Amino acid sequence: MSCDHNCDKCGEKCDTPQTENPHELSRIKRVIAVVSGKGGVGKSSVTALLASAMRRKGYNCAVLDADITGASIPKMFGVSGGLDGDGTGIFPARSKTGISLVSANLLLEHETDPVVWRGPIIAGMVKQFWTDVIWGDVDYMFIDCPPGTGDVPLTVFQSIKIDGIITVTTPQELVSMIVEKAVNMANMMKIPMLGIVENMSYALCPHCGERINVFGNGDAVKAVTQKFGLPLLAEIPYDAELVKAADTGTVDTLGVRYTDAAADIIESGLPVVRQ
Ligand code: ADP
Repeated sequence: MSCDHNCDKCGEKCDTPQTENPHELSRIKRVIAVVSGKGGVGKSSVTALLASAMRRKGYNCAVLDADITGASIPKMFGVSGGLDGDGTGIFPARSKTGISLVSANLLLEHETDPVVWRGPIIAGMVKQFWTDVIWGDVDYMFIDCPPGTGDVPLTVFQSIKIDGIITVTTPQELVSMIVEKAVNMANMMKIPMLGIVENMSYALCPHCGERINVFGNGDAVKAVTQKFGLPLLAEIPYDAELVKAADTGTVDTLGVRYTDAAADIIESGLPVVRQ
């Protein structure tokens, strides 16, 4: 029960997987994995919004884009081109507001090149993003995990010391069933689930401002939060400005505050610094 995933200081014999050490020049205080049961629910957008909210609070933030085949983080932050290295490691790219970013898309010759690799190669790349990147001083690292509970999320959970997981979902009934899978996976891996973000919860009528529950009224998500005793960290509306910001690479300077309350919880609710 008191496991903090720091196996170096613990003599207990247990089935908690041994995690990899980050690069010796990386000092990463807290790591939060952002997951979803399936693709397209806004996991990358929420990752970007959370990192931006923590950056606005003045923290050194980083995003490790582990969604190798569906990498969208660089585009959302308006970052392109390659990554530099010096023989001892790779340096992350920087967003306009100073968020450190590493993504497979920054290593491809063209951002539209498909990543047609087998699972173990993809999982190996994610591990290298953790071990071979010189992240420097990072207060909060957010990991944009690939959707589902497959090979790569498993590698993330087993090889990186993660302090907490945030699950992103949309309000449909079916998605809630998939959320339960993500929650159960986190429990199996003994990583704390920090809460759930409901994305595209509703839309606001541009004429009268009425709230329209495009994907249902969110009862299914509330039922999951109650079942597992998890906080609903944010209810983000369908927002055309968010799409525009993601498409134009301005997500970290967008004026929305949808994830500020979640950022407050992250700031106050995670275990103390481990390194
Ligand atoms: P995922 O990482 O789960 O695949 P993305 O964050 O890439 O999802 O989002 C998928 C698409 O939905 C993107 O075009 C994104 O701009 C859009 N999107 C995400 N969240 C919202 C939202 N709250 N309102 C409007 N569009 C959104």
